[in-house]
Amino acid sequence: MIIRFAILPLLLAVNLSMCKKQESASPGSQQASASSTPAGAATPVAAASPKITKPVVDQTAQVIIFCYHRLVDKIRYPGTEITPAAFEAQMKELKDSGITVIPMQDLLAWKRGEKNIPPRAAVVTFDDGWKSQYEVGWSIMKKYGYPFTMFIYTEGVRGGSLGGGEAITWEQLADMRDNGVDIEAHSATHQDLREGHTIMVANPGGKRTRTKLTGPQYEQWVQNEVVGCKQLLEQRLGIKVNCFAVPFGNYNEHVKELARNAGYEAMFTVYGQPITYTSPLDSIGRYAIEANKPKVFEDAAKMIGTSTGGAAAVAEVGAKDLATQPADGETVRTALPLIKANLSAIGPIEPGSVQMRVSGLGVVPASFDQKSGTVSYQVTQKLHEKSCSVFISVKSQGKKVEAHWTFGIEEGAAGGATSPRPTPKR
Ligand SMILES: [Zn+2]
Repeated sequence: MIIRFAILPLLLAVNLSMCKKQESASPGSQQASASSTPAGAATPVAAASPKITKPVVDQTAQVIIFCYHRLVDKIRYPGTEITPAAFEAQMKELKDSGITVIPMQDLLAWKRGEKNIPPRAAVVTFDDGWKSQYEVGWSIMKKYGYPFTMFIYTEGVRGGSLGGGEAITWEQLADMRDNGVDIEAHSATHQDLREGHTIMVANPGGKRTRTKLTGPQYEQWVQNEVVGCKQLLEQRLGIKVNCFAVPFGNYNEHVKELARNAGYEAMFTVYGQPITYTSPLDSIGRYAIEANKPKVFEDAAKMIGTSTGGAAAVAEVGAKDLATQPADGETVRTALPLIKANLSAIGPIEPGSVQMRVSGLGVVPASFDQKSGTVSYQVTQKLHEKSCSVFISVKSQGKKVEAHWTFGIEEGAAGGATSPRPTPKR
C-alpha cells in the first residue's frame, strides 16, 4: 500500500513533463510515455524512479453504473421515466455521499490498469436517445460538472424508422459530442439479439411485422444490430465507439463474440451490481433507475460503502496478517475452494459489517464466527478463471478496514477448462 502511493506522484511527474512534448498523447498512452523517456530529457526524479511499466491502480475501488431513460415532470410510464427533480436529487446525493462521478472511459482505462479512479465511483448513462436527456438531463449534469454516456440505438434517432417526436436528433448528439459527452452503441432497433426470438422487422413499404429469424437471415440482421450500429454512429459523428449496451440485457455468447470481433471493449446489461477491478468486461451490470423503483438507487449507493467512508477512512491490512486460506499467491487444485480468513488481527469487528467479495461471484454469503474471528465461505459454483481475488471489508471501531488477496487455480481444476465453453476461441 505504501509503495503504491509513493509511486503515483513520481509517475505523475513523469507524465506531466512528457505532456508538453507530446501534445497528442492521450491518457491511454501513459504506459508508453512513462517507459520511453527520450535521452537527455530525464529529470533526476525520473532517473531515480524504479522501472514502472504501468501506473499503479487501486484494485479495490468499486464503481456503480446508473442507467436512466426519460426525464419528465408527469410520469406516465413509471418503468422508464423519472422526474427531473428526482434525478437531480440523486445526482446531489452522489456528491453528498462522497461517490465520485467518473467518465465511462476512465472506468475502462482503470480496468486496463492504465488509470486510477477514486475508491468509490459512479458512472451515469442515459439510454435510448430521448430529447429530454438533451434538454433536461444534460443541464442537470452540467450543473454538477458530471460526465456521462449516451447509449443510442440508431433507428431511434429522429428521422430513423423508430425515431419519433420525442427522439433526440443527430444535431443534438453532435452538440453533446462537441462538449465531451461520450456517445456509445445500443443496437440498431433495440430488440432481443438472440437467434430465434420474436422481433419486429420492417418490410418493404415500411410495415412492421412480428417474426423469428434463424440461420443466415438472423446473422445478417444481428450483424447490423451489433456492428452496423457502431459503424453508423462512428461515421455520422466521427467518434470511436467501444461500448455496447445490450437491449434489455438479452444476449448470449454468439452476440458477445460478434461484439468483441467488432471492436467493442465492454458490454453492458441492466443487471445492476458493483463493478470491481476483476468484473468481466462483457457483462457489466448497470442499475436501471426508474420512477417505480426508488429503492434501487439507494441500495446501489449503499453497495459501495457508507457515506462516512471515503479514501481516508479506509485502512488496509495485509492478507498475511489474516492467515488466509488459500494463502496469497498459492495455487489450489480445486475450483471449489473453501475461502477463509482470521480477522482477529484487525481488532473488534462490528457485528454484521463483515463482507466478502470473490472475483467472478461478487458478494458471497460468507459466515462470520465472532468468537474465533473467522470469516469463511465455501465456493459453491466453480470458479472459471485461473486466478481468484478475494476482498474482505469490515468495520472496526468506526473505521472501514479492507483486505484483499489473490490465489491461483490449477489448470484443469478451473471450471472453464473442464466444461466446454460455447466460444472456445477468443
Ligand atoms: Zn434501451
